[in-house]
Amino acid sequence: MKTKILLDEEQMPKKWYNVQADLPSPLDPPLHPQTQKPIVPSDLSAIFPMELIRQEVSTDRYIDIPEEVQDVLHLWRPSPLYRAHRLEKFLKTPAKIYYKWEGVSPAGSHKTNTSIPQAYYNMKAGIERIATETGAGQWGSALAFATTLYDLECTIYMVRSSYAQKPYRKSMMNVWGAECIPSPSTRTNSGKAVLEKDPDTPGALGIAISEAVEDAATHPNTNYALGSVLNHVCLHQTVIGQECREQLAMVDDYPDVVIGCVGGGSNFAGISFPFAGDKMTGKHKDIDIIGVEPASCPTLTKGAYTYDFGDVAGLTPLLKMFTLGHDFVPPSIHAGGLRYHGDSAIVSRLVNDGVARAISYHQSEVFEAAQSFARTEGIIVAPEAAHAVKAAIDEALKCRKNGEGKTILFNCTGHGNFDMSAFDAYYSGKLVDYEYPDELIREAIGRIPKIQ
Ligand SMILES: *Cc1c(COP(=O)(O)O)cnc(C)c1O
Repeated sequence: MKTKILLDEEQMPKKWYNVQADLPSPLDPPLHPQTQKPIVPSDLSAIFPMELIRQEVSTDRYIDIPEEVQDVLHLWRPSPLYRAHRLEKFLKTPAKIYYKWEGVSPAGSHKTNTSIPQAYYNMKAGIERIATETGAGQWGSALAFATTLYDLECTIYMVRSSYAQKPYRKSMMNVWGAECIPSPSTRTNSGKAVLEKDPDTPGALGIAISEAVEDAATHPNTNYALGSVLNHVCLHQTVIGQECREQLAMVDDYPDVVIGCVGGGSNFAGISFPFAGDKMTGKHKDIDIIGVEPASCPTLTKGAYTYDFGDVAGLTPLLKMFTLGHDFVPPSIHAGGLRYHGDSAIVSRLVNDGVARAISYHQSEVFEAAQSFARTEGIIVAPEAAHAVKAAIDEALKCRKNGEGKTILFNCTGHGNFDMSAFDAYYSGKLVDYEYPDELIREAIGRIPKIQ
């Protein structure tokens, strides 16, 4: 019985799969932040290259991956699919558990799957610098790696609490030639405004996004890049699910359950959209597609499905999505990542339509699952990925109870080698479980702009 299921380099997908082609009706369009009218491509051209704007709205089922991008992706792709024999034995489950291992990329997570094409299209468009935000630091590292390959400068606004917790992520960005600044900063008006109100703020992804967007919009040679949420980001991640489908076919299998953790939705999109397409087009009706989020940032499980801004300052287009309100600041006791107030419009739509479903976990049970995984399969996963591990374990335990031999596939998005302080906090009993209060959600949702 195989442990690692590997594809040859030539078998890496040559096209991205665009699930928008298989939605039963089009997505609700993004709206202009001031006029609340559907945005047009020229609204975005100050901060994104045209090819990415085209991909954002495309309904073509497949989009070619440029050969120059494939060449770089070959540095670590196709990534391995593992059968978790030892975890299965430990759980005494009749289920088959497979995990896609995305931690093999140079930056250690799936985020390089989109940082490479984004840097490439910006370079092609003659852009000289990219500004972005990063929460836990994985996106900043992934973009720093990509921009150095294409000789672009890179400025990264890193959420202040993570900047303090994960100094080595910053060092990584520096090795790849990027500048990393704690956010909120005094470089931007949005940053200054937050600091005036609350000098001790831990920062939040929504604040850092405002800073990076403002930086890009006010410098003509600079564009903005986002590591999650947007349709083109989800598109770039579909190499993951397409590879999984081929790898499972090599062992004559197909998933009953597909699991991914959800921060902004990109890795979940990557592993699940090809299967969601199979489900919506009737090729495979019974796949259970599960997105997993933290109980302290319960966007899909408790948020409202409505138009909201992607950032605190209200600079981004309004997206129809599940949201906790754009001024959401995650509790700083939370160590497990996945702290964005909103979610991908497509992921939100699939959950709203019942094609996928969402669940949430508390952080201590998530770290316990990470420990079981490390002690069986060896890999110390990122806390984000541990949410998916926990869900896979629970599904496998259900199978044990019901005597079902289901095939469970989950996305193992990255390693946790820079997250040891979070593991330390878990072992010293400092990780508090925190359920984001319904009342705060109701209040925040009340502050979402009303759409005419
Ligand atoms: C960024 C990140 C996530 C969450 O982001 P998504 O866009 O929801 O995928 C999950 N796991 C790892 C390792 C990450 O770096």
